[in-house]
Amino acid sequence: MNDAKNTQPASAAQSPRFCNTGTFMRIPNTQTTEKLDFAIVGVPFDTASSYRSGSRFGPTAIRQISAMIKPNNVILGVNVLENLTGVDFGDVPIIPDYIHPTYKAIEETLQPIVDAGTIPICLGGDHSITLGELRAVAKKYGPVALVHFDSHSDICDEVFGQKYNHGTPFRRAIEEGLIDPSHSIQIGMRGSLYFPDEFQQAADLGLKLIPAHEVRELGLKEVGKLIRERVGDKPAFYTFDIDFVDPAYAPGTGTPEVGGFTSLETLTLIRETKDINFVGFDVVEVLPAYDTSELTSYMAANIVFEFISMIALKKNASNK
Ligand code: MN
Ligand code: MN
Repeated sequence: MNDAKNTQPASAAQSPRFCNTGTFMRIPNTQTTEKLDFAIVGVPFDTASSYRSGSRFGPTAIRQISAMIKPNNVILGVNVLENLTGVDFGDVPIIPDYIHPTYKAIEETLQPIVDAGTIPICLGGDHSITLGELRAVAKKYGPVALVHFDSHSDICDEVFGQKYNHGTPFRRAIEEGLIDPSHSIQIGMRGSLYFPDEFQQAADLGLKLIPAHEVRELGLKEVGKLIRERVGDKPAFYTFDIDFVDPAYAPGTGTPEVGGFTSLETLTLIRETKDINFVGFDVVEVLPAYDTSELTSYMAANIVFEFISMIALKKNASNK
């Protein structure tokens, strides 16, 4: 809280101790429901991950290295601190191990932000958190178009017999009517699979899925065009699983898959989406314990910088 009278840290029984340790790009830590251009929100929940856990420390690592980010995005031609108002809202008071109370906490934290017309940019946490974010966003905008970058499609029906896991959020989101599959697209899937028909399962759910090898065949410009065509002018949510990036460039993640994208290819493809009407973003699955030289958290911080740059670009265009 940015409240001079309250200098006590939050009770560790209410808010986990790994919350609220720094801010993104050193912007103010302020909790407000006034309309802003964006709000950074940490969601350090990682107990729905299927292999390595530890992405609860992702938001802290991303914030820490984000001190490296400078305000000018030369390629998109914007300064993100000049015309935008944004805050670091702090972290959702997640409850480790308890996914449904955590979903409730995510919704309760995000809803006033979303309802004010502020664009949330969430830092995960494992990918299960996106379902809670989509619940808040869809309450305001209706079913949104999903732009999903990941090496996995995360549309399993169950993992370990559980419906709510980091491998299931997008099947649940479709069932709950939070996303419109006919305007949604998944990019970058690869690696060995349990079910050989997983890409077909995405199609059966009404999603468009472009696996990593097809991205390579089509080229980044063409894939960018396919994403824009798919989304159209629908309000969209951008969910970015850091394992989209090759583990050579982003080793610190829970379920890595080789044969991915370089950091330059990743940033280039994100910029191809700049004309889309995004109403929410997240970057998930950053796992600092497996990171090297802060490569992964710096990649994530730069992805968030591209997101903020796209918000700035849109604002500048609407002010002209
Ligand atoms: Mn994922
Ligand atoms: Mn993944």
